[in-house]
Amino acid sequence: MKTYLVGGAVRDGLLGKPVTDRDWVVVGATPQTMKNLGYVQVGADFPVFLHPETKEEYALARKERKVAAGHRGFTTEFSPDVTLEEDLARRDLTINAMAQAEDGALIDPFGGRRDLADGLLRAVTEAFREDPLRIFRVARFAAQLTGFRVEGSTRNMMRDMCAQGVLSELPGERVWQEFRKVLEAPLPERFFEVLEEVDAWVPFFVELRGKGPFDVGEMWLQERFAFWCERLAEAEVKRLCKNIKAPNAYRDFALQVHRYGEVLGCWMDRSAEEVAEAVGACKGFHDAEHLAPLVGYLTRKGAQDQRSLLTLIRRVNDAVSADQFAVKGRALGEALMSARAEHIAAGQRRR
Ligand code: ATP
Ligand code: MG
Repeated sequence: MKTYLVGGAVRDGLLGKPVTDRDWVVVGATPQTMKNLGYVQVGADFPVFLHPETKEEYALARKERKVAAGHRGFTTEFSPDVTLEEDLARRDLTINAMAQAEDGALIDPFGGRRDLADGLLRAVTEAFREDPLRIFRVARFAAQLTGFRVEGSTRNMMRDMCAQGVLSELPGERVWQEFRKVLEAPLPERFFEVLEEVDAWVPFFVELRGKGPFDVGEMWLQERFAFWCERLAEAEVKRLCKNIKAPNAYRDFALQVHRYGEVLGCWMDRSAEEVAEAVGACKGFHDAEHLAPLVGYLTRKGAQDQRSLLTLIRRVNDAVSADQFAVKGRALGEALMSARAEHIAAGQRRR
């Protein structure tokens, strides 16, 4: 039995990037051998094990055979006879199809190291076509790895697959897992450039087609997403989020920016009532800190003095409270809002 480090860990190691998640392939073993050594099997009929101490993933070398459409339409064959090379051959890109032996030797049957040096995202074999998720993986790697482009015949293959409509076989959840990595990548705009190159907009990202440029500066994940969504109509934002299964926090922040970003972004020039309404809708009168994410985003976008806006709303919240009014229900709501608007108007005049 032999054990090899594989996939992303080998790739990132060669790139000199920090390696966080390490995957291993075991050749010449059976599930029983693994269990005898104390490894814990995860998944009933899939030969993947967790190391008893490190908890890293050890997979028995396997071959895959396409039996049905979609990302999961594979049967796997594993036996102690499956070679390392056979296991590497089922992987998506040459740069992900390298292994490192225990003595440090690199096993690189598909020229991954050369492609790594040349910045090429190249399919290992034609079997690339068998899993549509690989299209988004390639686009995601373009966003993560500076200076990488899609190799020509791989691009043709991807374009072909997209034209056949295979992307619609993918579950939105898997698309989101890739897209989330794009949101934290150094070059998210590259993801969309690859979608454009191979025409992979339909069905998941069709709302964003033609809505570039997608360059983002120093923004965090939800801000980047909201930044792109600002270019869409509200119904499109909702549809996009539904299709790619964006978590509620992303969707809600994008919608908040969409609805109130414009008013709060130039709050000094808007009527105090409009500002009060936007702040109220963001629950900023409940607690001014609820405005912090939006205010942070608007600041990064160079909007009007957001620090003063936040200070002003804190003051309003200190000054105005329900117990100052003798009315109840709807009348109380109105009284509160007009008191708040008055304070906001005063704040605007002081500026
Ligand atoms: P990351 O740095 O995001 O973890 P990764 O390349 O390690 O990237 P994983 O999803 O952890 O990606 O997968 C580990 C390895 O398994 C990949 O490097 C690749 O060799 C292989 N792999 C993963 N997903 C696929 C796929 N859809 N098709 C073919 N090979 C895949
Ligand atoms: Mg990985």
